[in-house]
Amino acid sequence: MKFTNLTRAEEIGANCYLLESAKSRVLLDAGMHPRETGKLATPDFSLLGGRGFDAMVLTHAHQDHVGCLPLAMRESPGAPVFMTEATAGLSEVMLHNSVSVMMRQRDELAAPDLPLFSHREIETGMDRWQIARLSERFGLGEDVTGEFFDAGHILGSTGLLLRAEGKRVFYTGDVNFEDQTLMRGANFPADDIDVLVMETTRGDSPVPDGMTRKTEEQRFLSTLQGALEAGGPVLIPVFALGKTQELLALLYEARKSGALRGGFGLYVGGLSAKVTAVTDRLRGKAPRRHGDLKLAECLPMEVVGGRDIAQLPVLPRTVYAISSGMMTENTLSNVLAPKILENPEAHCMFVGYSDPKSPAGRLRAAREGDEVSLDPRRRPLRRRCKLDEFTLSAHATRDGLLDYVKRARPKKLLLVHGDPPAVAWFAREVPRVCPQTEVIVPVPGVPVEI
Ligand SMILES: [Zn+2]
Repeated sequence: MKFTNLTRAEEIGANCYLLESAKSRVLLDAGMHPRETGKLATPDFSLLGGRGFDAMVLTHAHQDHVGCLPLAMRESPGAPVFMTEATAGLSEVMLHNSVSVMMRQRDELAAPDLPLFSHREIETGMDRWQIARLSERFGLGEDVTGEFFDAGHILGSTGLLLRAEGKRVFYTGDVNFEDQTLMRGANFPADDIDVLVMETTRGDSPVPDGMTRKTEEQRFLSTLQGALEAGGPVLIPVFALGKTQELLALLYEARKSGALRGGFGLYVGGLSAKVTAVTDRLRGKAPRRHGDLKLAECLPMEVVGGRDIAQLPVLPRTVYAISSGMMTENTLSNVLAPKILENPEAHCMFVGYSDPKSPAGRLRAAREGDEVSLDPRRRPLRRRCKLDEFTLSAHATRDGLLDYVKRARPKKLLLVHGDPPAVAWFAREVPRVCPQTEVIVPVPGVPVEI
């Protein structure tokens, strides 16, 4: 069997992999790079050699796993695409949003190759989407089967067990082993794994002594309480899919328990509201905590869209939980930023990972009083607001992943989906705890014999 990394670089970037058995070719995920545009943001489908694939599998609906799905499907007209029901509902929203973003970029960046696909192509492609339930085997070509296991990362997220040629290959997708506020921790198999293909996102992020999800939640809530009592507006840049729903559940729990006291205003973005509506529609259909809770109704909130954000007044005692989490140019959080950053009464709170090269990454590196540029077309901003960072990640800690490797004891471990220092940490640590495991870092475009 062979495994090929179809991404263009060894980094968090996008995800797309090819598994080849004697008789079948299976494509795993087809992500879009969050920071690139046009062709550079896509996997290198030329590595398929024009021979397509027999079937495809999506592990979850984040853009870096699903964003290039319509392009991948062009490579193999007729091949089915397997995913969970929640991933299907969320992918539909995310892909249509991606077309709208690309159409805007076509004008702004004078990029005639955008959008890379159309709303109509998404709609027609959905005829080939096949819903698979957790722990249910499905055929992927002549001699490969797939089976989904809950990954605890976002709603509908899965790891995939592939059986082929008498071997068991497990692809983690993005995983979280701990409970979040909404998502339950992953439920992964650890028996008889021959080959483990594992994400490495947090390999370069040690968890400080004593820090747990609970202590971070408490620190976040008491900081938020203080910020609201001081009367300032609070900006929380969040991903529309996953982080927004986790935050709503956390705020709801905190209001109910009294950890967060007093009233406050709350704004979420348009895409976040759409994703939240799908999350509510699917309650009971995918594993999560607060099974009956409708997130859209759990707190009073307003929805703000791209057209209104520039005119939106920034109010005291109000939380702006708006995307994007990386504060990418032209997104809600980026456009609102000047009114927050230069206001000494305001507070900016980060709850997850930001790429250091993204606007959010640059802001997090700036000290109070520093100038920071969040959009090259606008004047730099002087940071006067308070700023705090919290680790409420949807990804497993590096120790959680290492522990899983110890339990699964795979013969081969393939390290993917991490920046080079993150991958390097696992390449160094795994041989110490699992000397019998062969550690492989698949070079993009170079098949690995498994
Ligand atoms: Zn993800």
